[in-house]
Amino acid sequence: MPITLYNTLTRRKEAFEPLDPAHIRMYVCGPTVYDYAHIGNARPVIVFDVLFRLLRHVYGPEHVTYVRNVTDVDDKINARAAQDFPDLTLNEAIRKVTEKTEAQFHDDMAALGALDPTVEPRATEHIGEMRGMIDRLIANGCAYVAEDHALFHVSSMPDYGRLSGRSLDEMIAGARVEVAPFKRDPMDFVLWKPSKPGEPSWPSPGGIETQGRPGWHIECSAMAAAHLGDVFDIHGGGIDLVFPHHENEIAQSRCAHGSDVMANVWMHNGFLQVEGEKMSKSLGNFVTVHELLDTMDFGGTTWPGEAIRFNMLKTHYRQPLDWTFVSLDEAHKTLWEWYGVLEGRTAAPDVPASILDALSDDLNTPKVIAELHKLHRAGHFEELRTALGFLGFSGERANIRRGVIMHVEPATIAIEGQPATLVLGGVFDPDADSEKVSLTPEAWRLMAERHAARQEKNFGEADRIRDELSAMGIVLKDKKDPVTGRIVTEWEMAR
Ligand SMILES: [Zn+2]
Repeated sequence: MPITLYNTLTRRKEAFEPLDPAHIRMYVCGPTVYDYAHIGNARPVIVFDVLFRLLRHVYGPEHVTYVRNVTDVDDKINARAAQDFPDLTLNEAIRKVTEKTEAQFHDDMAALGALDPTVEPRATEHIGEMRGMIDRLIANGCAYVAEDHALFHVSSMPDYGRLSGRSLDEMIAGARVEVAPFKRDPMDFVLWKPSKPGEPSWPSPGGIETQGRPGWHIECSAMAAAHLGDVFDIHGGGIDLVFPHHENEIAQSRCAHGSDVMANVWMHNGFLQVEGEKMSKSLGNFVTVHELLDTMDFGGTTWPGEAIRFNMLKTHYRQPLDWTFVSLDEAHKTLWEWYGVLEGRTAAPDVPASILDALSDDLNTPKVIAELHKLHRAGHFEELRTALGFLGFSGERANIRRGVIMHVEPATIAIEGQPATLVLGGVFDPDADSEKVSLTPEAWRLMAERHAARQEKNFGEADRIRDELSAMGIVLKDKKDPVTGRIVTEWEMAR
């Protein structure tokens, strides 16, 4: 089945026809490295990783080049560097921030099962190419210099706005246009700007005498051209990048190269919200990948990267995604069940056609997951293992254990009419790789047995085990988390 992809540029699903079947070229906008990646940042990484895997499968791994840039020069980086390392020079502080953030980003994305892109160019390593591109744009009348800035002149391009489907007038009315007196046109955007003293700076293009630094949009145009050529196959990113970032990338690249398109196919993943609300720092619902993987801040447990990946793929990439505890928990439970039946199973030689067909239909991952359920139900476990591996899932329970919820600080509590008693307590979480802190293996085994009895609705047996534990001084309390609806068992042991 041929691959079809929805193209934002033409607003329809089209059969994918590579410029050169021996060399498929894809560019996806990468992170600005100043802070932890949040799950909204992780969505395009996972979506385009799935596409990368499909393209490698169809055309051969050595015939696909995937470029994802790293933006390491930006006002937000400068601000973070000055704030976090006030004692260092700005350039040293920036290096600390960008190195640390980039390493964290790589760790997080690897945990989510994303393959490394073929090339990860850094903006600061391509300043020369950016300068060259700006000089070309000035020479052919698409850009101009004013007050030590280089600006792109949007009215030099008759079909500016084609990607976002908006006319210049609509954009001016709708956008927060930075008003600068030296702009010829309010929609003109910055290609290069002067650096303030102490900020990173490079020799400027266009005969500008003071040192400066590039704007954000020109980075991607220059890096895409350097690694993929003037025109390439697929350009991806989040829907929030359509305007102005991608519109401006297109304007720069087409005018610099004299081409009709920058990339043939433009793909955008939808927005992401958390528990039905827009994710924002001020609402306190800002979820980072690091928090999910390494802390218990989301739902009181750590989460395996594979569960995060699976949860992300349950929604089609173009649809808005609502990130909820219930959905993530369900994703984890599904994988746990599947991985259980895969134990000791080998993999089938070929990826099932049903999986490839669903993916080839504009990355229909909800359909893919329905097909995985079918393989599981039909007992086709070898095919299930192969399909999961192809999609970036290990199939091993050891890799998807959740963190245990443990409150092991000793606390003194007063029991009516008795002297204060030292209590150790914790939560028994059947899915977690629990440490048996301060409990004997025997007690832990009884708790697991009680959990199993409750699952089977054998409440008589569950009560009998509760009494047995109680006789050992271990008091159980079943609690429903009011937010998540999840039932966990708290235990306390009087000492
Ligand atoms: Zn970009």
